[in-house]
Amino acid sequence: MGRSAPKRTGAPGANPRIHHAFHDHLRALLGDEAEALEHALSTPSPVSIRVNVAKWSGPQADPIPWCATGRYLGERPSFTFDPLLHAGCYYVQEASSMLLEQAMKASGPWGQDIRALDLCAAPGGKTTHLRSLLSPGSLLVANEIDRKRQGVLQENLFKWGASNTVVSGSSPHELQELPDFFDLILVDAPCSGEGMFRKEPFAREQWSPALVQQCATTQRAALDHAWHSLRPGGTLIYSTCTWEEAENEAQIAHLMEQGATCIGIPVDPSWGVVAAGRQGTVGLRCYPHLVNGEGFFIAALRKEGDRTIPSAPRTFPNERSHEAVHWLRPDRSWNTIDRGEVIFAVTQDRSADIRELSKALRVLSPGIPLAERKGNDLRPHPALALSVDLQHNTFPIVELDRTAALNYLRGLAIPATDARGTALACFDGIALGWLHGAGNRWNNRWPVPWRIRAQQPSAPLVSWAHTSNKRA
Ligand code: SAM
Repeated sequence: MGRSAPKRTGAPGANPRIHHAFHDHLRALLGDEAEALEHALSTPSPVSIRVNVAKWSGPQADPIPWCATGRYLGERPSFTFDPLLHAGCYYVQEASSMLLEQAMKASGPWGQDIRALDLCAAPGGKTTHLRSLLSPGSLLVANEIDRKRQGVLQENLFKWGASNTVVSGSSPHELQELPDFFDLILVDAPCSGEGMFRKEPFAREQWSPALVQQCATTQRAALDHAWHSLRPGGTLIYSTCTWEEAENEAQIAHLMEQGATCIGIPVDPSWGVVAAGRQGTVGLRCYPHLVNGEGFFIAALRKEGDRTIPSAPRTFPNERSHEAVHWLRPDRSWNTIDRGEVIFAVTQDRSADIRELSKALRVLSPGIPLAERKGNDLRPHPALALSVDLQHNTFPIVELDRTAALNYLRGLAIPATDARGTALACFDGIALGWLHGAGNRWNNRWPVPWRIRAQQPSAPLVSWAHTSNKRA
């Protein structure tokens, strides 16, 4: 089996020992090949990013063959000290999980305006990918049950900047109220994490046969609820970062007992991805000794029924749209949802869907956070600066060089001569956030939880730092 352009970089951390039963599990799964896999787990991980082409064209770097916007980097740079990361121009993501793109291509609703759900979404790697793969008119609900992880999910999605994206914080059982609702559901399930053993020492520490069983139970419940909420003819994509059959093929086989059919996901043999047919299922497995990425499993399933294009979204005009909608691109029709401290903007043709969702799920963010109320003031929301739907010429632009941009991202004020009103801070022409004029300085409106805290980069700067901003 081939593998593509192996380039392994970065220092392996001090890895804790793995539970002895893991080795038996691997041997039962792979026989003599288990040794090669165990060896690969002691080598450094490849470093990769996925580019947000709605904002940035990306660096000159080796492509990831199964993902049009994926790039391998030659080394692990200091991403934190790159303003483009904070501007949502790319997401640091391991390569195997970008196979989502191939699953999406195989699944059917490619290019149509659909309703999609990412049930286990934080921190947002696959949600941002899914968002880039879906048509702009599609609605994407990013759900995360864990309260502690919901903040980072919102941050990453705000930075990615796409509209028609809802963030919710529900348990999968709340999907009971949304039968046959979604055309596409991604369940990137919590799992025993074997595929992350070389990247995350904690994954090694926590592994046990009991954890595998516990994860299998959680996965079964999440899948049953997701299946109920998938419309007939719709597609469910299931993925994990483990090799355990109980967490992978056994879950797929359970859905097949309920009438699901597996969809083949085409792969090129040179990628090193294994098309696996265990337990009568069809899915893809990634092993680090064969593929240039981490351990991963992915399968796509179709629910029996009508495969016609989903009904057109219902337009829901709202005559009380807030005046702040003029901060958004005028070529789309917007409604506003006033939640007191924050006013959100949603496209008119998805407003009815969002109403329905809000009755069933704990919606944290129904759309683009447009404005926030501070006393009697109405200010543009930090997420609006990062939205691809921001109408840029509404606000004066202050272009920052690299040093000033990093100071801005640390929360510092920017020296000025005659700073007044609200301005948009940009780096390399890409919007970062808001500035508030105070005469001899611009006050900083970058959100406190998003600030850079480190003083110095602990690794080389990203390679494009030396080419992207000549003024730095
Ligand atoms: N899709 C994410 C990405 O690509 O960035 C990673 C998701 S992670 C593998 C699984 C997520 O499921 C975690 O964020 C976890 O909090 C969430 N989770 C934990 N228990 C869950 C449950 N019972 N039902 C649904 N999701 C759960």
